[in-house]
Amino acid sequence: MDCLFCKIASGDIDADIVHEDEAVVAFRDIAPQAPHHILVIPRRHIATLNALDDAELGGRLVLAAQRIAADLGVAEDGYRLVMNCNAHGGQTVFHVHLHLLAGRAMGWPPG
Ligand code: AMP
Repeated sequence: MDCLFCKIASGDIDADIVHEDEAVVAFRDIAPQAPHHILVIPRRHIATLNALDDAELGGRLVLAAQRIAADLGVAEDGYRLVMNCNAHGGQTVFHVHLHLLAGRAMGWPPG
C-alpha cells in the first residue's frame, strides 16, 4: 500500500521514532508546530478517524501519547492531543494519527 505512515511504521522510510510497540509507533513531526510535536500512529492502516473501529487501539494511541508526554517531561505543564479528520479537519496524511503538541502554551480556539 502506498502510504507514507505505513512505510514509517515498517521502517521503509526513516523517521525520528520516540516510541514503538506491537500496535503503535510514535515519531517526531517533520514540520513541528511546537517544541515537541509527535505523531502517534497505529501500525495497522486506518485511513481516517471515521474508519477507526477498534476501541482498544484508540485507547492505546491515547495512552502512548500520555506516556510520551511523561517521558518528555511535559505532563505537568500540559500538552495538546489533536486528531484531524478529512478536509474540514485539515487532514493531509490519510493514515490515522494523533498529534501530541507540547513545550509551549497553546491558543484556543484552534484555527
Ligand atoms: P495532518 O495534517 O493532521 O494529516 O498531519 C500530517 C502531519 O504529518 C503533518 O503535521 C506533517 O508535517 C507530518 N508529516 C508529513 N510527512 C512526514 C514525515 N515524512 N515524517 C514526519 N512527519 C511527517
